[in-house]
Parts: sequence; C-alpha cells; structure tokens
Amino acid sequence: STQIQLAARPTGWPTAETFRTVEVTYGDLEPGQVRVANEYVSVDPYMRGRMNDVKSYVPPFALDETMTGGAVGRVVESASDDVPVGALVLHQYGWRDVVQEDAGGFQVLPEIPGVPSSLYLGILGMTGLTAYVGLTTIADLHEGDTVFVSGAAGAVGTAVGQIARLLGAGRVIGSAGSAEKVELLTSRYGYDAAFNYKDGPVREQLREVTPDGVDVFFDNVGGDHLEAALDRMNTGGRIALCGAISQYNDTERTPGPDNLANAITRGLTLRGFTLGGYLDHAPRFRELMTGWFSEEKIAYDETVVDGIEKAPQAFLDMMSGGNVGKMLVRTGA
Ligand code: NDP
Repeated sequence: STQIQLAARPTGWPTAETFRTVEVTYGDLEPGQVRVANEYVSVDPYMRGRMNDVKSYVPPFALDETMTGGAVGRVVESASDDVPVGALVLHQYGWRDVVQEDAGGFQVLPEIPGVPSSLYLGILGMTGLTAYVGLTTIADLHEGDTVFVSGAAGAVGTAVGQIARLLGAGRVIGSAGSAEKVELLTSRYGYDAAFNYKDGPVREQLREVTPDGVDVFFDNVGGDHLEAALDRMNTGGRIALCGAISQYNDTERTPGPDNLANAITRGLTLRGFTLGGYLDHAPRFRELMTGWFSEEKIAYDETVVDGIEKAPQAFLDMMSGGNVGKMLVRTGA
C-alpha cells in the first residue's frame, strides 16, 4: 500500500518536506478485519490546522504516521460478516491506496444508481452536510433572505448556494477567486450575482451587489470577507462562521474586523460551528439531498487528481484555489 505520512510540521504553507511517501505491506487478514481498495481520497482545508501541534477541536496529526481523512473504497477481502467483499465503504483512514483495519472503522454505503461513490466525500457527504447545517441550524435561513457566500465555488460553497435556493432564499450572492469561477456561479450554480475577490477590495465589490443588504452570510474565508459582510448585514442578520481559509497558512496574527460593533447596533448573530457536533442531522440531510439529486436539481463539480502520491500536491492546489467544487484524489488501487 502506498501511503502519505506527515514528515514535518509546516510553518506557513506546507512544502514537499512536509510529506513523505511510504510503502506499507499488510499481512493476512486477522479475524474481524477487512481490506479496502480506495477509490477516492479527500483533501480538505481543516487538514492544514491538524498539521500544527496545537490543541483544537480535532487532535493534531501524528508525525510519521499516515495522514488520516475521509475516503471511499471497495472491500476486496473480508474476515467480517458485517462488511462483505464488494461493499462500498466510507472511512477515515485517509491518504493511502489500500487500507486494512478492523471492520468497525468502515461505514457501508448505499449504492444508488447514478450516484458516483465520490459524491459521498462531497455533496452527499461532509461538505454537503456542512452547507446544510450551516444554513439551517446555524444561520436560521428564512424564506426570502438575501444570502452571501464566500468561497462560493468550492465544495461547501457550491452546495451552500444551491441549498439556499432550494430552501427558499431570495437573492444569493457569491465570491470566488477567478473570472471562470464567478461565471460558473451565475451560469451553473444559480447565484444571482457574483464577484472575483481578487478584482478589488471586497468591501467595495460586495456593496455594489447587495443594494438591499445581506440577511445571511455563510463565511468560508474570514478576514476581509467577514469585515465586508459586517458592513452590509441587515438588522437581525445571521453569520455562520464555517471557515477562515484566508488565514490557515498565516504565520502572523491578523487584525480583527474594524466594524465588529455593527453586531451590536444591528443585533447580529455570529455563530461558529464544526460539523462534528451536528452529525445527527446527517440522515435528514442525506434524504433531502438524494431527493434533490434524483430530481436533477443539484449541480456539482469535482477536480480529480490521479494517484495517491499526488495527494500533497492536490491538497496544496486546493488551498490555493486550483479546484472547482470538491477536490479529490483518485487512487485507482
Ligand atoms: P474548497 O473546495 O472551498 O477549497 C478551498 C477554496 O478556498 C479554494 O478553492 C479557494 O478558492 C479558496 N481560498 C483559498 N485561499 C483563499 C483566500 N485567501 N481568500 C479567499 N478564498 C480562498 O474547500 P471546502 O469546501 O472543503 O471548505 C471550504 C471552507 O469550509 C473552508 O474554510 C473549510 O475550513 C470550511 N469547512 C468547515 C467545516 C466545519 O465543520 N465548520 C467543514 C468543512 C469545511 P478561490 O479560487 O475562490 O480562492
């Protein structure tokens, strides 16, 4: 099995020295174990935080161990009645082409015709659920609300815009980091307006596309996006703090928004969340999303990189905006 380990803790942007590729040989199956050939391995922004040796909502990655994280694969050998050969499974064993572990570490997935396995790492999985929970439970989306989404062309962001629309939002506005992404937001993902945050100050660009203000801000980016949104929030507005990717590789502290006092005068709610606390919403979400999906109401994109040895590069590409929709590594084990 080819596996990617964390070789050193990065300062700032990870580099080639951050990771190491190793070959691991598994022995025969022990009772209760299964062997899984991965199909897709996920690379996600939260992994950057886990590379640091700091206390957070998930413990740091261990040095010299294989990077863990979401993956889907197929059981190729089994010594467990619960997880038979041929089953499609979701697991957290991360950046490797083959994994052999106790069957309890694998969740058997339903096989729905027309639903590729990769979707369980994206729109039907963690990132889709994040969008749903953030909009509903965290931001308390109401019919007719104007919604602004930062990081709108990524895995979570493309789900947020569409779910907001399906749940009855009014105007939906997004920002992303290239002209192509901005075009996709309006042509494919149902956004009413979108802008490229690299074209000029977010504060000014957001003002132009939100003449009636913003009721819900779904923030994936933080920094100047959060500050710009605080300017434009309507009274009683809600901000779901989902991510702050503009700061994950920072080596220096960044100043906070200069207009946080708007939260007082406008009665805003700023609420952060991490998905782990809301997994009980998964069954309801999966039911809703598979329904929308089968009715062809959901568009999605994936940026797929081939070969598990490319996982570090895929991760870095995702962190610097090289993806549209969900960034995935196809292992072809
Ligand atoms: P994405 O698919 O959105 O990929 C990351 C994107 O971030 C890139 O494509 C890039 O797009 C954008 N980006 C990178 N740097 C910057 C920057 N400086 N300013 C603005 N945008 C930037 O990843 P995910 O959908 O998986 O995650 C999106 C966000 O949601 C992240 O912040 C992540 O941490 C968070 N998240 C939070 C969860 C939770 O439980 N709270 C769960 C899952 C994700 P562009 O080209 O537009 O710059």
